[in-house]
Amino acid sequence: MAKAYYCTGNDCYKEGNRLSGVEYLIVHSPAVYPAVIRAVSGSNNWYKRWNKPGVEKLVHGFIDDTGVYEFAPHTMACWQIGDSWGNKNCIGYELCELDTREEFEKMWENAAAHYAALCEKNDLPPERVIGHYEAHEKGFASDHSDPAPYFKRFGRTMEDFRSAVRAALGGASAAADAVPASETYTPWAHGTVVNLEKGDLLNVRTGPGVSFGLLPAWPKLAEGNEVDVLARYENGWARVSIRGAEGYVNARYLDIRKQYAVWVGKAANLGGSRLNVRTGPGTGYGLLSAWPKLSEGNLVDVTGESKGWYQVRIAGKYTGWVSREYVIPSP
Ligand SMILES: [Zn+2]
Repeated sequence: MAKAYYCTGNDCYKEGNRLSGVEYLIVHSPAVYPAVIRAVSGSNNWYKRWNKPGVEKLVHGFIDDTGVYEFAPHTMACWQIGDSWGNKNCIGYELCELDTREEFEKMWENAAAHYAALCEKNDLPPERVIGHYEAHEKGFASDHSDPAPYFKRFGRTMEDFRSAVRAALGGASAAADAVPASETYTPWAHGTVVNLEKGDLLNVRTGPGVSFGLLPAWPKLAEGNEVDVLARYENGWARVSIRGAEGYVNARYLDIRKQYAVWVGKAANLGGSRLNVRTGPGTGYGLLSAWPKLSEGNLVDVTGESKGWYQVRIAGKYTGWVSREYVIPSP
């Protein structure tokens, strides 16, 4: 997808300062139209123009109708926005100003997909994708209007661009949702928040991905906070319970300890018959020879759970499995 064309000859690149964090993803356009200049193709391309001393600016890359071109690594602070906090805390790309509607739409699609990927990678919602002029309104950028005039020429706005990014992310989230949990913990596992950078907080969202909003009841967790972990998803997110509020966090920041809290259950709702105790979680397993049946009201220790079945310990020593429908907590 993105190709590396690092501007090693650029003064900013040579200085090589690192970003302190990634708070915003900035959208620029060079404001040279009617000149049409592409990222790396054509005799007068941006790579040629910026990969040399004396340019006094740099962005993380350029995007045009042919693709995404990285001019600097995502860890580098670029001279992109005329403000030192902005330069140290933002990733930014220039969207090449093209001529025809067809060229513009291709560039737009490449850019939306790339900013969606940047949102995923940096755990940022699409609201953090802003134009240079919006960064100025927020007080951490020079007074430029880009990319608004460029977008306007094709009847678009930054709000439209964020919608496109949201749609690109939505596709990924819908796919993640469609995939069943890779592991469920029942009743729960214990999770401790770990691996955060110093001073960072962990976002708790309403769904498994950065395109979901923050959980109103409990939007952030700190290093060392403890949660109950209910499920883990194949996209690397986990569903957690925080004092009764259920939300989702990136499981990269959880130390999960599987532990079943053993409880006392009672055979119930048998309707006059007896409950089969099997050697495994399913009717395909045979009856447990040491204790094949339970009667209404019998007590057991519930020691685990799988696929709608409880693992039970009977009389303190026999371990078998019973259908979850017929066991209730003993008061
Ligand atoms: Zn700009």
